[in-house]
Amino acid sequence: MAAPRLEIDLDKIYHNAHALVSRLAERGISVTGVTKAALGSVEIANTLLQAGVISLGDSRIENIKAMRLATENPLINNAMFLLIRSPMLSQIAQVIQYADISCNTEVEVIKKLSDEAHKQGRTHQILLMVELGDLREGILPENLIDTVRKVLSLPNILLKGIGTNLACRSGVAPDATNMAVLSELAELIETTFDLTLDIVSGGNSANIQWALNDTQTDTGRVNNLRLGEAILLGCEPLQRQAIDGLYTDAFTLVTEVIESKSKPSQPTGTIEQSAFGETTAVTDRGIVAQAILAIGIQDIDPSGLQAPAGIEVLGASSDHLIIEPAENELLVGDEVCFQLNYSALVRAMTSPFVSKTYTSRQDTPLTYSFNKNGLQP
Ligand SMILES: *Cc1c(COP(=O)(O)O)cnc(C)c1O
Repeated sequence: MAAPRLEIDLDKIYHNAHALVSRLAERGISVTGVTKAALGSVEIANTLLQAGVISLGDSRIENIKAMRLATENPLINNAMFLLIRSPMLSQIAQVIQYADISCNTEVEVIKKLSDEAHKQGRTHQILLMVELGDLREGILPENLIDTVRKVLSLPNILLKGIGTNLACRSGVAPDATNMAVLSELAELIETTFDLTLDIVSGGNSANIQWALNDTQTDTGRVNNLRLGEAILLGCEPLQRQAIDGLYTDAFTLVTEVIESKSKPSQPTGTIEQSAFGETTAVTDRGIVAQAILAIGIQDIDPSGLQAPAGIEVLGASSDHLIIEPAENELLVGDEVCFQLNYSALVRAMTSPFVSKTYTSRQDTPLTYSFNKNGLQP
């Protein structure tokens, strides 16, 4: 089989997505399945929808377009697509054409969305993102009411709700305090303008502990989370702990050995910068076994790979991953498997040099849909 390849177990992804959809439904929270790490994979999108996510979210309009167009699958064709990164002015027409909702923070952008939606004869829904401390995207809370007033005056734009995103730039944890602020802001908008916000989107996979761990937590007005990593890798991103009952090995990276030799553990000669600028100090351990795998920094984040027991990653360049094998000697042509963290996964999924193979034992998984009373088969 082709190498390198990502082996993707759709049953495990289905299990993870379904478990999170059910557990969060008990708290009145729906799930938007985030596909940005999956490069618009129709197989993964389909699996998430089968498992009961209410919409698909992606940061790239190109991925949303690919999912919209690549398939005859009615589940995907009729899915609600949320653009989770603020639209670029240069992509407004595509955003209106392919996304149902977009996350926004700039009135200038929303005005352009309004003009374009009018031109295309559509209504575009928006979530206004609020800054609650992580200092990535978001309108400052004190400017929110003024922004809402401007947005409500724009034709062909529907204010669907508000949202926030934490733990991405600065690692600010979602907690009772910042989530309560989000709920209060939702209520302030509703009373000020006499309207109802359908969606209060509390965040990403980093919200899992806040939403699920303590059954006493009041989740307030938050009724949606946008989940990628928690579903795909079964772990929460604050401490990178596995989530109870979820699979952490839905993805396996398979690589192929192209050289296997015994070499000195220390380089010889004058040491300057390596290909990627870092200088490495290594201790002399004499002659060691060393193998090279045909994959590199352009395909994966080497620090995000988890090697099988006994195998150690020694270094990497663009196209080579150098490992020290365990006791058993590796032969040229042998395959070595790795588990991946989020950053290694994103790069592997988006590298055209890594082929993707999907497995699923479940022919037709049950279809669930989310409503206010929880999960309905
Ligand atoms: C990436 C992203 C998500 C999903 O993040 P995960 O940690 O993978 O769950 C949600 N919302 C926004 C705005 C994002 O950029």
